[in-house]
Amino acid sequence: MNNYDKTIVERIHIIKGDITKMDVDAIVNAANPSLLGGGGVDGAIHRAAGPQLLEECRTLGGAKPGEAKITKGYLLPAKYVIHTPGPVYRGGNQHEATILKNSYRNSMQLAKQYNCRSIAFPAISTGVYGYPKDEACKIAIDTVLDFMQKENFFIDIYFVLYDEDNFSLYTTYLKELSK
Ligand code: ADP
Repeated sequence: MNNYDKTIVERIHIIKGDITKMDVDAIVNAANPSLLGGGGVDGAIHRAAGPQLLEECRTLGGAKPGEAKITKGYLLPAKYVIHTPGPVYRGGNQHEATILKNSYRNSMQLAKQYNCRSIAFPAISTGVYGYPKDEACKIAIDTVLDFMQKENFFIDIYFVLYDEDNFSLYTTYLKELSK
């Protein structure tokens, strides 16, 4: 486990609920590579943001797994949506961990570029993409902490978990890091 400064770890907040309700500068969408909407959190974000979100997404030309692209938030409380397709989990030998890391890192990079002071992430790839939740949780938290530390970019990070399993994994791991 890495050793992070307590003041950085304290910028991370774990929430159980619906990411579309988050009043933050940017929410992250676990999109699919078409960026044209889908099920799960992607569907919820498009429903809440309204049809203009899909219109803007049509202009983006998709995104490869691990890449991230930004749009406005339209009817959402959030100012921006950062769209990133995570990896589809195929057993763990298909660069899934690297791709998942890239999704978190590239999302943070866009947040920095757009001067965001707060960002909310869902548990990318842990729904229909099938990534093991415990491994995905550590990658999510470690990657965001690494980014803040290396880039000297300290903002409020919200991990918004929809299911009890993820909520409990994130809470436990953050507690370990806070010791
Ligand atoms: P992926 O294709 O990346 O696996 P999914 O949308 O299927 O994306 O699932 C990613 C995670 O998002 C899952 O853990 C799922 O429980 C969660 N999720 C679904 N709806 C919401 C929501 N409204 N807010 C936050 N998380 C959500």
